[in-house]
Amino acid sequence: MTFFGSTACGSTSFSRILQKGLTDNFAEVQVSVVDCPDLTKEPFTFPIKGICGKTRIAEVGGVPYLLPLVNEKKVYDLNKIAKDIQLPGAFVLGAGAGPFQTLGFNSEFMLLVQTESEHRPPVNGSYFARVNPADGGCLLEKYSEKYHDFGCALLANLFASEGQPGKVIEVKVKRRTGKLNFVTCMRQTLEKHYGDKPVGMGGAFIIQKGKVKTHIMPAEFSSCPLNSDEDVNKWLHFYEMKAPLVCLPVFVSRDPGFDLRLEHTHCFSHHGEGGHYHYDTTPDIVEYLGYFLPAEFLYRIDQPKETHSFGRD
Ligand SMILES: [Zn+2]
Repeated sequence: MTFFGSTACGSTSFSRILQKGLTDNFAEVQVSVVDCPDLTKEPFTFPIKGICGKTRIAEVGGVPYLLPLVNEKKVYDLNKIAKDIQLPGAFVLGAGAGPFQTLGFNSEFMLLVQTESEHRPPVNGSYFARVNPADGGCLLEKYSEKYHDFGCALLANLFASEGQPGKVIEVKVKRRTGKLNFVTCMRQTLEKHYGDKPVGMGGAFIIQKGKVKTHIMPAEFSSCPLNSDEDVNKWLHFYEMKAPLVCLPVFVSRDPGFDLRLEHTHCFSHHGEGGHYHYDTTPDIVEYLGYFLPAEFLYRIDQPKETHSFGRD
């Protein structure tokens, strides 16, 4: 566990830093500190109202458990993870691999889980996206419609909190003028400002207009080893998905030596599309609206002992 120390800097200074950095990459930028909107409402439909209180980032497992070949022992339970990060009952959001141990196939997972506590039962608001076996398209489903566990698998980048209402950083940008995607731009802005000191953020944003490039992993794990980005890109299915998309970003400015995936964002929608976010493909019309908070702590859970550097895009 690492103390980010970032809340000492406060949301106001984060918002000033992001305002300046995003202006290099987007034509219109407006960053401010606001009350978190009620996230139980459309389009978010989260199980909780806010993302505030005892914020943490946790990275669980990692790409080395998926590639070159899958390690099917690497399965996790979010109620247990909430205890591991010393926040039983946490609201957890983020990006990971779907629980193949329950589903029976591989998928992209959009995690939205109110974990179990003494006071209330757990609620799973997660979605998963799989490649449609019939036509190679995207099949997005709400996990709790058929499944009742709180599993995830292989790798996950999580932002956890008490799920309380409170102040958050609102980021509105329109029209991309630079090369960086929305999340990379925020992450690199923080890295430039904070240097060696890692800071991390998570939350939710909506792609309100335009289209984005995404991927979904195949339903079957690769039976031959995938040893490079080129191999991985041939294995993945790529899509262009359309707004509105709700995205679950988790990012850390730099790796303090825990083999971190520095940014990971999955998205879902109410029109049947969802997957792993790469970047928007419509810079002239794209619009993003997001709500973020810095994390107080970073936890690394089940870090792979043997690692590599591909498959992190
Ligand atoms: Zn992903």
